[in-house]
Amino acid sequence: MRYLILSDIHGNLDALETVLGRASEVGYDRTLVLGDLVGYGAEPNEVVDRVLGLAPFAIIRGNHDKVACGLEDSDGFNPVAQQAVAWTYYALTPANRDYLAALPIGPVYVDADLEICHGSPEDEDAYITSEIAALRALRLSQRPVCLYGHTHVPLVFRLVGDEFEMVVHAQDEETHVTIEPEFRYLVNPGSVGQPRDGDPRAGFAVFDNASRDMSLYRVEYPVELAQRRIVEAGLPQALARRLALGR
Ligand code: ZN
Repeated sequence: MRYLILSDIHGNLDALETVLGRASEVGYDRTLVLGDLVGYGAEPNEVVDRVLGLAPFAIIRGNHDKVACGLEDSDGFNPVAQQAVAWTYYALTPANRDYLAALPIGPVYVDADLEICHGSPEDEDAYITSEIAALRALRLSQRPVCLYGHTHVPLVFRLVGDEFEMVVHAQDEETHVTIEPEFRYLVNPGSVGQPRDGDPRAGFAVFDNASRDMSLYRVEYPVELAQRRIVEAGLPQALARRLALGR
């Protein structure tokens, strides 16, 4: 079984279509979505519809999803994110708002190998931005491989006993990590729609549970199209600029 792992699409349909095209070439059977379908990008309905069409095997909500559908207020967001999420709330169709409001809270246990969360297994809103936070998440995870999003940086950590390390920051077109039985892994597939590691290319991952290969991919997509849509929608220009910078 091959799992396509998508996170932090953020209303960027141009990035999502490019990622799905590359994913079809490498092949997958089931889709997992780690939250933040919407927020920032100009195509929230199109992205929700496209994700629905993939019939994800497992999906959870992200912090932007719950604010964009009106479940929570945007007090914790910076001013630009607040503007974007307010725009998204009004842009979403009532049916898509309901869909986002009904998304489960992570962690969700997918099978014997995998669990998915948005921020961390402990808190869907927490950012894993330090090795201490990564180690804590690994200790709290309930499966050999814990998949997370939220930071928009594709990283793999692993732990065996007291031996903890960051395995890789995935910035090659393809990065392969073998999931070895003695280790526990914490994997961020990167962000489809708003990468933040200084590399504008979209990120995603595919896990093959037979070969134990976790592949992380980076793909170029038409950034200028996504930028034009953001500007034409009247969203903050900073959201268009950051896509080109990968910030
Ligand atoms: Zn996000």
